[in-house]
Amino acid sequence: SRKWSRAMAILKDFEEKSGTPLAKLRQVADAMDVEMHAGLASEGGSKLNMLISFVDNLPTGDEKGLYYALDLGGTNFRVLRVHLGGKDKGVLGQEFAEVSIPPHLMTGTSEALFDFIAAALAKFVASEPEGFHPPPGRQRELGFTFSFPVRQTSISSGTLIKWTKGFNIEDTVGEDVVGELTKSMEKIGLDMRIAALVNDTIGTLAGGRFYNQDVIAAVILGTGTNAAYVERAHAIPKWHGLIPKSGDMVINMEWGNFRSNLSLTEYDLALDAESLNPGEQIFEKLISGMYLGEIIRRVLLKMAEEADFFGDTVPPKLKVPFILRTPDMAAMHHDTTPDLKVVGNKLKDTLEISNTSLKMRKIVVELCDIVATRGARLAAAGILGILKKLGRDTVKVGEKQKSVIALDGGLYEHYTKFRECLESTLKELLGEEAAETIVIEHANDGSGIGAALLAASHSQYL
Ligand code: ADP
Ligand code: MG
Repeated sequence: SRKWSRAMAILKDFEEKSGTPLAKLRQVADAMDVEMHAGLASEGGSKLNMLISFVDNLPTGDEKGLYYALDLGGTNFRVLRVHLGGKDKGVLGQEFAEVSIPPHLMTGTSEALFDFIAAALAKFVASEPEGFHPPPGRQRELGFTFSFPVRQTSISSGTLIKWTKGFNIEDTVGEDVVGELTKSMEKIGLDMRIAALVNDTIGTLAGGRFYNQDVIAAVILGTGTNAAYVERAHAIPKWHGLIPKSGDMVINMEWGNFRSNLSLTEYDLALDAESLNPGEQIFEKLISGMYLGEIIRRVLLKMAEEADFFGDTVPPKLKVPFILRTPDMAAMHHDTTPDLKVVGNKLKDTLEISNTSLKMRKIVVELCDIVATRGARLAAAGILGILKKLGRDTVKVGEKQKSVIALDGGLYEHYTKFRECLESTLKELLGEEAAETIVIEHANDGSGIGAALLAASHSQYL
């Protein structure tokens, strides 16, 4: 029918405009490399903040003792206790608790948020086994993973540049988040020192390095997306401090804010305009878990409004922003039943659209594929950009250097088709020979352990 072909035209137009041919990906990688240089050259020199982490030493594997970590970066936060065994003994034990953040705290006051976090931490500390209590006079120490853009002033202090990923608390911006958390801990008499402030990429890099000394970068694909890597300190013109003994400095790229030569569809533009942070985090809005399902919803809404895709009326739920979550999208995308039963159920349960035909369900799966493929391929291009910056995208004669990239985050971990597409695209971009030197490793929950490791190496008792 005419309406069906109108719906197909909308789909095909979206597919065309979302295309990421290899040539385009290479341009993105080149632009990433250029922006990395610019961001390292001067503060504000690029959309990429290229933040100096003050981490100039990564774990060696010799770290020892009981340390706490706190991981705040999405809708959940986690508190961890990690028992490090020292030389060659690895992690002897770890426990964690996960707490979800009540939505009203994500847009409330700074004090309310940090009070809530401190209270959850105190509750967790109370479960510490007897034999692990610190001796009298000795403070517990914590690595604080705070996955928002922070201008570090030292390894254990830094001011919030901006919120992302659905958080928006005006009075935290410009404040030292370690000071904020410390205030809340003191209020309830929790005696603990924040020894390291890092973000999840840095934590994942540190956690990855603990197990594998070839880890040179970390990428997070979760609610948001970001990357960190090990840079040579002398290659950071904006760094006016001393060159560390190691010669290295870990850089938090904040690559979610990359923009350069990305082409955006009308759906991406509208999503951005109506977001909490218009004009910001454009790369993130094309790639990460917070947004992929929402892009699908917007295309489906247009198909419903302009081509009666779901019948004569537009399903009201389809008009609700963020109602279609990326895990639901992944479940539909992974549906292997012959009649796409999972797709049918998801459309019914999340959007209250029933009686969908197989033909319609196939279109929904195609849409998932378009959106996930674009995101995964762009993420691969970003990784190629980092490898280019480090001169590790090609194999030098006689050199057998391995480069390991630690990946983590719920999107990478659970969205198999996304992960497979990312990995095959990176291989394709690198070519066979170079691809053999690059390893992608899932750093399962590296960020929590990494923060504890960095707390250990920055302990006041060393
Ligand atoms: P965060 O990034 O908030 O620290 P995670 O790394 O756990 O937390 O990532 C959570 C995000 O991962 C969710 O917001 C969601 O977008 C995505 N995600 C979680 N589970 C799945 C899934 N099964 N399929 C696809 N995406 C998922
Ligand atoms: Mg996280």
